[in-house]
Amino acid sequence: MGKNGAMSFDFERKQRIAIIGGGPGGFEAALAGALLGAEVTLIESTGVGGSAVLTDVVPSKTLIATADAARAIGDASELGVQFYAKGENGKPLKPETAINLLAVNKRILALAGQQSEDMREQLIDAGVTIISGHGRLEGDSAVVVSTGPGGTDFDRIEADTFVLSVGASPRELPSAKPDGDRILTWKQLYDLPAVPEHLIVVGSGVTGAEFASAYMNLGSQVTLVSSREQVLPGEDPDAAKVLEKVFKRGGMKLLSKSRADKVENTGSGVIVTLSDGSTVEGSHCLMAVGSVPNTKDIGLESAGVQLAESGHILVNKVGRTSVPNIYAVGDCTNLVPLASVASMLGRTAVFHAMGDAVIPFSERKIASNIFTSPEIATVGWTSPEGAVEYKIPLEANPRAKMMGVKDGFVKLFARDVSGTIIGGVVVAPKASELIFPIAIAVDRRLTVDQVARVFAAYPSLTTSVADAARAMHGINQRGVF
Ligand SMILES: Cc1cc2nc3c(=O)[nH]c(=O)nc-3n(C[C@H](O)[C@H](O)[C@H](O)COP(=O)(O)OP(=O)(O)OC[C@H]3O[C@@H](n4cnc5c(N)ncnc54)[C@H](O)[C@@H]3O)c2cc1C
Repeated sequence: MGKNGAMSFDFERKQRIAIIGGGPGGFEAALAGALLGAEVTLIESTGVGGSAVLTDVVPSKTLIATADAARAIGDASELGVQFYAKGENGKPLKPETAINLLAVNKRILALAGQQSEDMREQLIDAGVTIISGHGRLEGDSAVVVSTGPGGTDFDRIEADTFVLSVGASPRELPSAKPDGDRILTWKQLYDLPAVPEHLIVVGSGVTGAEFASAYMNLGSQVTLVSSREQVLPGEDPDAAKVLEKVFKRGGMKLLSKSRADKVENTGSGVIVTLSDGSTVEGSHCLMAVGSVPNTKDIGLESAGVQLAESGHILVNKVGRTSVPNIYAVGDCTNLVPLASVASMLGRTAVFHAMGDAVIPFSERKIASNIFTSPEIATVGWTSPEGAVEYKIPLEANPRAKMMGVKDGFVKLFARDVSGTIIGGVVVAPKASELIFPIAIAVDRRLTVDQVARVFAAYPSLTTSVADAARAMHGINQRGVF
Protein backbone atom coordinates (compact mmCIF):
# COMPACT_ATOMS: atom_id res chain seq x y z
CA MET A 1 0.00 0.00 0.00
CA GLY A 2 1.14 3.59 -0.63
CA LYS A 3 1.36 6.31 2.05
CA ASN A 4 -2.23 7.47 1.55
CA GLY A 5 -3.58 3.92 1.52
CA ALA A 6 -3.72 3.54 -2.27
CA MET A 7 -2.26 0.43 -3.92
CA SER A 8 1.24 1.12 -5.25
CA PHE A 9 2.85 -0.74 -8.12
CA ASP A 10 6.51 -1.16 -8.81
CA PHE A 11 6.51 -0.28 -12.50
CA GLU A 12 10.30 -0.44 -12.61
CA ARG A 13 10.50 -4.08 -11.57
CA LYS A 14 10.96 -6.51 -14.44
CA GLN A 15 8.38 -9.24 -14.92
CA ARG A 16 9.79 -12.50 -13.60
CA ILE A 17 9.13 -15.65 -15.61
CA ALA A 18 10.05 -19.13 -14.40
CA ILE A 19 9.99 -21.96 -16.91
CA ILE A 20 10.14 -25.66 -16.03
CA GLY A 21 11.49 -27.78 -18.90
CA GLY A 22 13.85 -26.66 -21.65
CA GLY A 23 12.51 -28.52 -24.71
CA PRO A 24 11.30 -26.56 -27.76
CA GLY A 25 8.38 -25.10 -25.76
CA GLY A 26 10.44 -23.92 -22.80
CA PHE A 27 13.32 -22.75 -24.99
CA GLU A 28 11.13 -20.53 -27.15
CA ALA A 29 9.23 -19.26 -24.11
CA ALA A 30 12.54 -18.26 -22.51
CA LEU A 31 13.77 -16.43 -25.63
CA ALA A 32 10.41 -14.65 -26.01
CA GLY A 33 10.52 -13.52 -22.36
CA ALA A 34 14.09 -12.26 -22.70
CA LEU A 35 13.16 -10.43 -25.92
CA LEU A 36 10.36 -8.60 -24.15
CA GLY A 37 12.65 -7.61 -21.26
CA ALA A 38 11.55 -10.09 -18.58
CA GLU A 39 13.82 -11.69 -16.00
CA VAL A 40 13.73 -15.31 -17.13
CA THR A 41 14.80 -18.43 -15.24
CA LEU A 42 14.74 -21.80 -16.98
CA ILE A 43 14.83 -24.98 -14.93
CA GLU A 44 15.87 -28.08 -16.83
CA SER A 45 16.75 -31.50 -15.43
CA THR A 46 18.42 -33.17 -18.42
CA GLY A 47 19.72 -30.70 -20.97
CA VAL A 48 18.58 -27.66 -22.97
CA GLY A 49 16.68 -28.74 -26.07
CA GLY A 50 14.85 -31.33 -24.00
CA SER A 51 13.71 -34.67 -25.30
CA ALA A 52 13.18 -33.15 -28.74
CA VAL A 53 16.90 -32.48 -29.18
CA LEU A 54 18.51 -35.12 -26.98
CA THR A 55 16.44 -38.26 -27.51
CA ASP A 56 13.49 -37.80 -29.88
CA VAL A 57 13.32 -35.50 -32.93
CA VAL A 58 16.98 -34.77 -33.61
CA PRO A 59 18.35 -38.32 -33.06
CA SER A 60 15.50 -39.96 -35.00
CA LYS A 61 15.75 -37.60 -37.96
CA THR A 62 19.53 -37.96 -38.04
CA LEU A 63 19.19 -41.76 -38.06
CA ILE A 64 16.63 -41.42 -40.86
CA ALA A 65 19.11 -39.31 -42.88
CA THR A 66 21.51 -42.28 -42.76
CA ALA A 67 18.70 -44.71 -43.67
CA ASP A 68 17.77 -42.48 -46.63
CA ALA A 69 21.40 -42.49 -47.80
CA ALA A 70 21.49 -46.30 -47.59
CA ARG A 71 18.24 -46.56 -49.56
CA ALA A 72 19.48 -44.09 -52.18
CA ILE A 73 22.51 -46.34 -52.81
CA GLY A 74 20.13 -49.26 -53.36
CA ASP A 75 17.93 -47.22 -55.70
CA ALA A 76 20.82 -45.74 -57.67
CA SER A 77 21.30 -48.82 -59.85
CA GLU A 78 17.88 -48.16 -61.43
CA LEU A 79 19.26 -44.82 -62.63
CA GLY A 80 22.28 -46.55 -64.10
CA VAL A 81 24.78 -46.01 -61.28
CA GLN A 82 26.87 -49.11 -60.73
CA PHE A 83 29.02 -49.91 -57.75
CA TYR A 84 31.65 -52.56 -58.13
CA ALA A 85 35.10 -53.51 -57.03
CA LYS A 86 37.61 -55.34 -59.16
CA GLY A 87 38.07 -58.88 -57.94
CA GLU A 88 40.69 -61.39 -58.97
CA ASN A 89 41.40 -61.42 -62.73
CA GLY A 90 39.71 -58.00 -62.98
CA LYS A 91 36.28 -59.59 -62.59
CA PRO A 92 33.73 -57.14 -61.14
CA LEU A 93 32.51 -57.91 -57.64
CA LYS A 94 29.22 -56.51 -56.40
CA PRO A 95 29.94 -54.78 -53.09
CA GLU A 96 27.45 -54.88 -50.25
CA THR A 97 26.20 -51.80 -48.42
CA ALA A 98 27.14 -52.01 -44.75
CA ILE A 99 26.01 -49.81 -41.90
CA ASN A 100 28.47 -49.03 -39.13
CA LEU A 101 25.85 -48.39 -36.47
CA LEU A 102 28.42 -47.52 -33.82
CA ALA A 103 29.66 -44.69 -36.04
CA VAL A 104 26.11 -43.70 -36.96
CA ASN A 105 25.05 -43.53 -33.30
CA LYS A 106 28.20 -41.63 -32.35
CA ARG A 107 27.40 -39.05 -35.02
CA ILE A 108 23.77 -38.83 -33.86
CA LEU A 109 24.64 -38.30 -30.20
CA ALA A 110 27.38 -35.79 -31.01
CA LEU A 111 25.03 -33.83 -33.22
CA ALA A 112 22.29 -33.82 -30.57
CA GLY A 113 24.74 -32.82 -27.83
CA GLN A 114 26.12 -29.98 -29.95
CA GLN A 115 22.65 -28.68 -30.75
CA SER A 116 21.76 -28.73 -27.05
CA GLU A 117 24.94 -26.80 -26.29
CA ASP A 118 24.24 -24.25 -29.07
CA MET A 119 20.76 -23.67 -27.64
CA ARG A 120 22.13 -23.29 -24.11
CA GLU A 121 24.57 -20.66 -25.32
CA GLN A 122 21.78 -18.86 -27.18
CA LEU A 123 19.78 -18.65 -23.95
CA ILE A 124 22.73 -17.43 -21.93
CA ASP A 125 23.49 -14.77 -24.58
CA ALA A 126 19.86 -13.64 -24.33
CA GLY A 127 20.28 -13.20 -20.56
CA VAL A 128 18.29 -16.25 -19.42
CA THR A 129 19.34 -17.85 -16.12
CA ILE A 130 19.54 -21.64 -16.45
CA ILE A 131 19.27 -23.86 -13.39
CA SER A 132 20.02 -27.58 -13.68
CA GLY A 133 17.61 -29.54 -11.55
CA HIS A 134 14.11 -30.85 -11.08
CA GLY A 135 11.44 -28.15 -10.68
CA ARG A 136 8.17 -28.34 -8.77
CA LEU A 137 5.56 -25.63 -8.35
CA GLU A 138 4.99 -24.26 -4.87
CA GLY A 139 1.49 -22.88 -5.22
CA ASP A 140 1.21 -20.22 -7.92
CA SER A 141 4.06 -17.98 -6.79
CA ALA A 142 7.28 -20.04 -6.67
CA VAL A 143 9.16 -23.03 -8.03
CA VAL A 144 11.28 -25.24 -5.83
CA VAL A 145 14.22 -26.79 -7.63
CA SER A 146 16.14 -29.79 -6.34
CA THR A 147 19.62 -29.32 -7.68
CA GLY A 148 21.78 -31.73 -5.71
CA PRO A 149 22.25 -35.44 -6.29
CA GLY A 150 19.16 -37.30 -5.11
CA GLY A 151 17.26 -34.03 -4.76
CA THR A 152 19.19 -32.87 -1.69
CA ASP A 153 19.82 -29.16 -2.36
CA PHE A 154 17.01 -26.76 -3.06
CA ASP A 155 16.62 -23.43 -4.82
CA ARG A 156 13.43 -21.44 -4.55
CA ILE A 157 12.51 -19.11 -7.38
CA GLU A 158 9.66 -16.66 -7.06
CA ALA A 159 8.05 -15.42 -10.25
CA ASP A 160 5.01 -13.62 -11.62
CA THR A 161 4.42 -16.03 -14.47
CA PHE A 162 5.19 -19.72 -14.85
CA VAL A 163 5.48 -21.77 -18.00
CA LEU A 164 5.36 -25.56 -17.67
CA SER A 165 6.95 -27.35 -20.58
CA VAL A 166 7.87 -30.66 -18.99
CA GLY A 167 7.16 -32.84 -22.02
CA ALA A 168 6.23 -36.52 -22.02
CA SER A 169 7.89 -39.93 -21.69
CA PRO A 170 7.45 -43.23 -23.54
CA ARG A 171 4.46 -45.19 -22.32
CA GLU A 172 5.53 -48.51 -20.80
CA LEU A 173 3.46 -51.67 -20.54
CA PRO A 174 4.06 -53.72 -17.36
CA SER A 175 4.27 -56.93 -19.42
CA ALA A 176 6.79 -55.46 -21.85
CA LYS A 177 9.15 -53.50 -19.67
CA PRO A 178 11.94 -51.86 -21.67
CA ASP A 179 15.31 -53.16 -20.43
CA GLY A 180 17.61 -51.10 -22.65
CA ASP A 181 19.12 -54.33 -23.95
CA ARG A 182 16.63 -56.00 -26.31
CA ILE A 183 13.32 -54.44 -25.31
CA LEU A 184 13.76 -50.78 -26.12
CA THR A 185 12.05 -47.42 -26.02
CA TRP A 186 12.86 -44.97 -28.82
CA LYS A 187 15.29 -43.26 -26.45
CA GLN A 188 17.39 -46.42 -26.04
CA LEU A 189 18.01 -47.14 -29.73
CA TYR A 190 21.22 -45.14 -29.88
CA ASP A 191 23.10 -47.57 -27.60
CA LEU A 192 22.69 -50.43 -30.09
CA PRO A 193 26.12 -51.63 -31.25
CA ALA A 194 24.86 -53.01 -34.57
CA VAL A 195 21.79 -52.91 -36.79
CA PRO A 196 19.27 -55.36 -35.25
CA GLU A 197 18.95 -58.53 -37.23
CA HIS A 198 15.18 -58.69 -36.76
CA LEU A 199 13.47 -55.69 -35.16
CA ILE A 200 9.88 -56.11 -34.01
CA VAL A 201 8.23 -52.70 -33.77
CA VAL A 202 5.16 -52.65 -31.53
CA GLY A 203 2.92 -49.73 -32.50
CA SER A 204 2.29 -48.41 -35.99
CA GLY A 205 1.65 -44.76 -35.19
CA VAL A 206 4.03 -42.05 -36.42
CA THR A 207 6.97 -43.09 -34.21
CA GLY A 208 6.60 -46.82 -34.92
CA ALA A 209 6.23 -46.25 -38.67
CA GLU A 210 9.26 -43.92 -38.83
CA PHE A 211 11.57 -46.38 -37.07
CA ALA A 212 10.18 -49.39 -38.97
CA SER A 213 10.93 -47.54 -42.22
CA ALA A 214 14.40 -46.43 -41.08
CA TYR A 215 15.60 -49.84 -39.83
CA MET A 216 14.20 -51.57 -42.91
CA ASN A 217 16.33 -49.25 -45.04
CA LEU A 218 19.32 -49.83 -42.75
CA GLY A 219 19.05 -53.56 -43.49
CA SER A 220 17.08 -55.00 -40.54
CA GLN A 221 14.34 -57.46 -41.09
CA VAL A 222 11.35 -55.62 -39.60
CA THR A 223 8.01 -56.88 -38.27
CA LEU A 224 5.50 -54.14 -37.53
CA VAL A 225 2.77 -54.99 -35.03
CA SER A 226 -0.25 -52.78 -35.54
CA SER A 227 -3.40 -52.92 -33.44
CA ARG A 228 -5.45 -51.42 -36.27
CA GLU A 229 -6.38 -52.55 -39.77
CA GLN A 230 -3.86 -50.17 -41.36
CA VAL A 231 -0.60 -48.53 -40.32
CA LEU A 232 -0.71 -44.86 -39.24
CA PRO A 233 -4.21 -44.88 -37.73
CA GLY A 234 -5.81 -41.45 -37.91
CA GLU A 235 -3.65 -40.31 -40.82
CA ASP A 236 -4.76 -39.96 -44.45
CA PRO A 237 -5.85 -43.51 -45.51
CA ASP A 238 -4.44 -43.11 -49.06
CA ALA A 239 -1.07 -42.14 -47.59
CA ALA A 240 -1.16 -45.13 -45.22
CA LYS A 241 -1.94 -47.37 -48.19
CA VAL A 242 1.12 -46.13 -50.11
CA LEU A 243 3.31 -46.68 -47.09
CA GLU A 244 2.02 -50.21 -46.55
CA LYS A 245 2.77 -50.99 -50.19
CA VAL A 246 6.34 -49.67 -49.84
CA PHE A 247 6.84 -51.51 -46.54
CA LYS A 248 5.67 -54.81 -48.05
CA ARG A 249 7.81 -54.29 -51.15
CA GLY A 250 10.83 -53.77 -48.88
CA GLY A 251 10.17 -57.12 -47.19
CA MET A 252 8.60 -55.83 -43.97
CA LYS A 253 6.12 -58.12 -42.26
CA LEU A 254 2.95 -56.26 -41.26
CA LEU A 255 0.78 -57.77 -38.55
CA SER A 256 -2.47 -55.81 -38.56
CA LYS A 257 -5.22 -55.98 -35.94
CA SER A 258 -2.62 -57.50 -33.61
CA ARG A 259 -2.00 -56.40 -30.06
CA ALA A 260 1.23 -57.23 -28.25
CA ASP A 261 0.33 -58.59 -24.81
CA LYS A 262 3.79 -59.51 -23.61
CA VAL A 263 7.42 -59.07 -24.65
CA GLU A 264 10.20 -61.21 -23.17
CA ASN A 265 13.97 -60.94 -23.47
CA THR A 266 15.27 -64.51 -23.91
CA GLY A 267 18.91 -63.48 -23.64
CA SER A 268 19.56 -64.10 -27.32
CA GLY A 269 16.42 -62.44 -28.68
CA VAL A 270 12.84 -61.44 -27.92
CA ILE A 271 9.51 -63.22 -27.99
CA VAL A 272 6.44 -61.08 -28.52
CA THR A 273 3.15 -62.71 -27.52
CA LEU A 274 0.14 -61.34 -29.35
CA SER A 275 -3.38 -61.15 -27.91
CA ASP A 276 -4.50 -64.15 -29.98
CA GLY A 277 -1.83 -66.25 -28.24
CA SER A 278 0.51 -66.46 -31.24
CA THR A 279 4.15 -65.42 -30.88
CA VAL A 280 6.69 -63.57 -33.00
CA GLU A 281 10.41 -63.97 -32.47
CA GLY A 282 13.01 -61.37 -33.26
CA SER A 283 16.36 -60.07 -32.09
CA HIS A 284 15.06 -56.80 -30.59
CA CYS A 285 11.74 -55.13 -29.87
CA LEU A 286 10.99 -51.42 -30.06
CA MET A 287 8.01 -50.35 -27.98
CA ALA A 288 6.29 -47.39 -29.64
CA VAL A 289 2.94 -47.37 -27.87
CA GLY A 290 2.56 -43.67 -27.14
CA SER A 291 3.62 -41.26 -24.42
CA VAL A 292 2.54 -40.16 -20.97
CA PRO A 293 2.89 -36.53 -19.84
CA ASN A 294 5.54 -35.73 -17.19
CA THR A 295 2.98 -34.03 -14.97
CA LYS A 296 3.24 -36.16 -11.81
CA ASP A 297 4.73 -34.70 -8.64
CA ILE A 298 5.36 -31.22 -9.96
CA GLY A 299 2.91 -29.47 -7.66
CA LEU A 300 0.07 -29.04 -10.15
CA GLU A 301 -2.69 -30.11 -7.78
CA SER A 302 -1.60 -27.76 -4.98
CA ALA A 303 -1.40 -24.89 -7.48
CA GLY A 304 -4.93 -25.70 -8.71
CA VAL A 305 -3.92 -26.51 -12.30
CA GLN A 306 -6.58 -28.62 -14.01
CA LEU A 307 -5.58 -31.83 -15.76
CA ALA A 308 -7.31 -34.09 -18.27
CA GLU A 309 -7.93 -37.70 -17.19
CA SER A 310 -4.86 -38.66 -19.21
CA GLY A 311 -2.71 -36.41 -17.02
CA HIS A 312 -2.26 -33.75 -19.72
CA ILE A 313 -2.53 -30.13 -18.58
CA LEU A 314 -5.64 -28.44 -19.94
CA VAL A 315 -4.80 -25.17 -21.68
CA ASN A 316 -6.58 -22.69 -23.90
CA LYS A 317 -5.37 -21.45 -27.29
CA VAL A 318 -2.69 -19.23 -25.78
CA GLY A 319 -1.39 -21.94 -23.47
CA ARG A 320 -3.05 -20.59 -20.31
CA THR A 321 -4.04 -23.14 -17.66
CA SER A 322 -6.91 -22.90 -15.19
CA VAL A 323 -4.61 -20.73 -13.03
CA PRO A 324 -4.21 -17.32 -14.70
CA ASN A 325 -0.46 -16.85 -14.15
CA ILE A 326 0.48 -20.46 -14.99
CA TYR A 327 0.88 -21.42 -18.64
CA ALA A 328 1.73 -24.80 -20.11
CA VAL A 329 3.02 -25.69 -23.57
CA GLY A 330 4.24 -28.71 -25.51
CA ASP A 331 3.65 -32.43 -25.00
CA CYS A 332 2.51 -32.06 -21.39
CA THR A 333 -0.66 -30.30 -22.60
CA ASN A 334 -3.84 -31.34 -24.38
CA LEU A 335 -2.66 -29.69 -27.63
CA VAL A 336 -1.01 -31.47 -30.58
CA PRO A 337 2.28 -33.18 -29.54
CA LEU A 338 4.70 -31.70 -32.06
CA ALA A 339 7.94 -29.80 -31.54
CA SER A 340 6.74 -27.08 -33.90
CA VAL A 341 3.54 -26.62 -31.90
CA ALA A 342 5.47 -26.58 -28.61
CA SER A 343 7.75 -23.81 -29.95
CA MET A 344 4.86 -21.75 -31.28
CA LEU A 345 2.89 -22.05 -28.03
CA GLY A 346 6.00 -21.23 -25.98
CA ARG A 347 6.23 -17.87 -27.74
CA THR A 348 2.47 -17.30 -27.69
CA ALA A 349 2.15 -18.04 -23.96
CA VAL A 350 4.87 -15.59 -22.98
CA PHE A 351 3.66 -12.87 -25.36
CA HIS A 352 0.19 -13.28 -23.87
CA ALA A 353 1.45 -13.18 -20.29
CA MET A 354 3.37 -9.98 -21.04
CA GLY A 355 0.48 -8.27 -22.77
CA ASP A 356 1.91 -8.47 -26.28
CA ALA A 357 -0.21 -9.21 -29.37
CA VAL A 358 -0.80 -12.92 -29.98
CA ILE A 359 -2.45 -15.10 -32.57
CA PRO A 360 -4.26 -17.94 -30.76
CA PHE A 361 -3.25 -21.48 -31.69
CA SER A 362 -5.14 -22.93 -34.63
CA GLU A 363 -4.87 -26.63 -35.40
CA ARG A 364 -6.05 -25.88 -38.92
CA LYS A 365 -2.70 -24.32 -39.80
CA ILE A 366 -0.31 -26.98 -38.55
CA ALA A 367 1.95 -28.51 -41.16
CA SER A 368 3.47 -31.80 -40.03
CA ASN A 369 5.48 -34.57 -41.54
CA ILE A 370 5.99 -38.28 -41.03
CA PHE A 371 9.62 -39.06 -41.83
CA THR A 372 9.10 -42.46 -43.40
CA SER A 373 10.38 -43.23 -46.87
CA PRO A 374 8.51 -41.78 -48.75
CA GLU A 375 7.61 -38.95 -46.37
CA ILE A 376 4.01 -38.04 -45.62
CA ALA A 377 3.33 -34.33 -45.08
CA THR A 378 -0.02 -32.93 -44.08
CA VAL A 379 -1.55 -29.52 -43.48
CA GLY A 380 -4.98 -28.24 -42.54
CA TRP A 381 -8.16 -30.27 -42.63
CA THR A 382 -7.66 -33.64 -44.27
CA SER A 383 -11.07 -35.26 -43.87
CA PRO A 384 -13.38 -32.28 -43.99
CA GLU A 385 -17.09 -32.27 -44.62
CA GLY A 386 -18.41 -30.01 -47.36
CA ALA A 387 -15.09 -30.13 -49.15
CA VAL A 388 -13.84 -31.56 -52.40
CA GLU A 389 -10.57 -33.45 -52.74
CA TYR A 390 -8.38 -34.07 -55.72
CA LYS A 391 -5.45 -36.48 -55.80
CA ILE A 392 -2.74 -36.50 -58.41
CA PRO A 393 -0.26 -39.41 -58.40
CA LEU A 394 3.43 -38.59 -58.60
CA GLU A 395 3.78 -41.14 -61.40
CA ALA A 396 2.33 -38.45 -63.66
CA ASN A 397 4.99 -35.91 -62.68
CA PRO A 398 7.89 -35.59 -65.20
CA ARG A 399 10.50 -34.83 -62.51
CA ALA A 400 9.36 -37.83 -60.47
CA LYS A 401 9.84 -40.05 -63.55
CA MET A 402 13.34 -38.65 -64.07
CA MET A 403 14.22 -39.31 -60.44
CA GLY A 404 12.79 -42.83 -60.53
CA VAL A 405 10.13 -41.96 -57.93
CA LYS A 406 7.36 -44.53 -58.09
CA ASP A 407 5.27 -43.90 -55.02
CA GLY A 408 3.35 -40.92 -53.79
CA PHE A 409 0.81 -38.29 -54.59
CA VAL A 410 -0.34 -34.73 -53.96
CA LYS A 411 -3.85 -34.29 -52.62
CA LEU A 412 -5.66 -31.01 -52.11
CA PHE A 413 -8.85 -30.31 -50.20
CA ALA A 414 -10.93 -27.24 -51.07
CA ARG A 415 -14.27 -25.81 -50.07
CA ASP A 416 -16.81 -26.80 -52.69
CA VAL A 417 -18.37 -23.38 -53.15
CA SER A 418 -15.52 -20.93 -52.75
CA GLY A 419 -12.68 -23.17 -53.96
CA THR A 420 -10.63 -22.10 -50.90
CA ILE A 421 -7.84 -24.56 -50.17
CA ILE A 422 -8.29 -25.91 -46.65
CA GLY A 423 -5.85 -28.78 -46.54
CA GLY A 424 -3.42 -31.01 -48.34
CA VAL A 425 -1.41 -34.21 -48.16
CA VAL A 426 1.86 -34.86 -49.96
CA VAL A 427 3.43 -38.32 -50.11
CA ALA A 428 6.84 -37.98 -51.73
CA PRO A 429 10.55 -37.93 -51.07
CA LYS A 430 11.14 -34.76 -48.99
CA ALA A 431 7.39 -34.13 -48.71
CA SER A 432 8.32 -32.05 -45.65
CA GLU A 433 9.74 -29.46 -48.06
CA LEU A 434 6.88 -29.70 -50.57
CA ILE A 435 4.09 -29.05 -48.10
CA PHE A 436 5.06 -25.40 -47.56
CA PRO A 437 3.26 -23.94 -50.61
CA ILE A 438 0.09 -25.72 -49.51
CA ALA A 439 0.59 -24.49 -45.95
CA ILE A 440 0.81 -20.93 -47.27
CA ALA A 441 -2.36 -21.48 -49.30
CA VAL A 442 -4.20 -22.78 -46.21
CA ASP A 443 -2.91 -20.01 -43.96
CA ARG A 444 -3.72 -17.25 -46.46
CA ARG A 445 -7.00 -18.90 -47.54
CA LEU A 446 -5.99 -18.97 -51.20
CA THR A 447 -8.35 -20.50 -53.75
CA VAL A 448 -7.44 -23.29 -56.15
CA ASP A 449 -7.40 -20.76 -59.01
CA GLN A 450 -4.98 -18.46 -57.17
CA VAL A 451 -2.58 -21.35 -56.55
CA ALA A 452 -2.97 -22.64 -60.12
CA ARG A 453 -1.84 -19.27 -61.48
CA VAL A 454 1.48 -19.34 -59.55
CA PHE A 455 4.50 -20.38 -61.61
CA ALA A 456 6.16 -23.61 -60.50
CA ALA A 457 9.66 -24.35 -61.79
CA TYR A 458 9.66 -27.01 -64.50
CA PRO A 459 10.44 -29.84 -64.05
CA SER A 460 9.78 -30.08 -60.34
CA LEU A 461 7.68 -32.09 -57.93
CA THR A 462 5.88 -28.88 -56.95
CA THR A 463 4.25 -28.75 -60.38
CA SER A 464 1.96 -31.49 -59.00
CA VAL A 465 0.64 -28.98 -56.44
CA ALA A 466 -0.13 -26.48 -59.20
CA ASP A 467 -1.55 -29.26 -61.42
CA ALA A 468 -3.90 -30.45 -58.66
CA ALA A 469 -5.08 -26.87 -58.09
CA ARG A 470 -5.55 -26.39 -61.85
CA ALA A 471 -7.60 -29.60 -62.09
CA MET A 472 -9.90 -28.23 -59.40
CA HIS A 473 -10.76 -25.11 -61.42
CA GLY A 474 -14.50 -24.67 -61.61
CA ILE A 475 -14.99 -26.56 -58.38
CA ASN A 476 -17.90 -24.30 -57.49
CA GLN A 477 -19.71 -25.09 -60.74
CA ARG A 478 -18.89 -28.75 -61.07
CA GLY A 479 -18.87 -29.61 -57.39
CA VAL A 480 -17.70 -33.20 -57.53
CA PHE A 481 -14.53 -34.80 -58.87
C1 LIG B 1 10.79 -40.41 -31.75
C2 LIG B 1 10.10 -39.09 -31.87
C3 LIG B 1 10.28 -38.32 -32.99
C4 LIG B 1 9.64 -37.09 -33.11
N1 LIG B 1 9.81 -36.37 -34.25
C5 LIG B 1 9.19 -35.17 -34.38
C6 LIG B 1 9.35 -34.41 -35.55
O1 LIG B 1 10.01 -34.84 -36.50
N2 LIG B 1 8.77 -33.19 -35.63
C7 LIG B 1 8.03 -32.68 -34.58
O2 LIG B 1 7.50 -31.56 -34.70
N3 LIG B 1 7.85 -33.40 -33.44
C8 LIG B 1 8.41 -34.62 -33.32
N4 LIG B 1 8.25 -35.34 -32.17
C9 LIG B 1 7.50 -34.74 -31.06
C10 LIG B 1 8.43 -33.83 -30.25
O3 LIG B 1 9.51 -34.56 -29.77
C11 LIG B 1 7.69 -33.20 -29.09
O4 LIG B 1 6.51 -32.60 -29.56
C12 LIG B 1 8.55 -32.14 -28.41
O5 LIG B 1 9.70 -32.71 -27.88
C13 LIG B 1 7.77 -31.46 -27.29
O6 LIG B 1 8.54 -30.46 -26.74
P1 LIG B 1 8.34 -29.97 -25.23
O7 LIG B 1 8.67 -28.52 -25.22
O8 LIG B 1 7.02 -30.40 -24.72
O9 LIG B 1 9.49 -30.63 -24.38
P2 LIG B 1 10.37 -31.94 -24.48
O10 LIG B 1 11.18 -31.95 -25.72
O11 LIG B 1 9.52 -33.13 -24.20
O12 LIG B 1 11.33 -31.70 -23.26
C14 LIG B 1 10.86 -31.55 -21.95
C15 LIG B 1 12.03 -31.30 -21.04
O13 LIG B 1 11.55 -31.01 -19.74
C16 LIG B 1 12.42 -31.58 -18.79
N5 LIG B 1 11.66 -31.76 -17.55
C17 LIG B 1 10.57 -32.54 -17.35
N6 LIG B 1 10.13 -32.40 -16.10
C18 LIG B 1 10.96 -31.53 -15.49
C19 LIG B 1 11.01 -30.98 -14.19
N7 LIG B 1 10.09 -31.27 -13.26
N8 LIG B 1 12.01 -30.12 -13.88
C20 LIG B 1 12.94 -29.78 -14.83
N9 LIG B 1 12.93 -30.26 -16.08
C21 LIG B 1 11.95 -31.12 -16.41
C22 LIG B 1 12.84 -32.90 -19.42
O14 LIG B 1 14.08 -33.30 -18.89
C23 LIG B 1 12.95 -32.50 -20.89
O15 LIG B 1 14.27 -32.12 -21.17
C24 LIG B 1 8.84 -36.60 -32.04
C25 LIG B 1 8.65 -37.38 -30.90
C26 LIG B 1 9.27 -38.61 -30.82
C27 LIG B 1 9.04 -39.45 -29.60
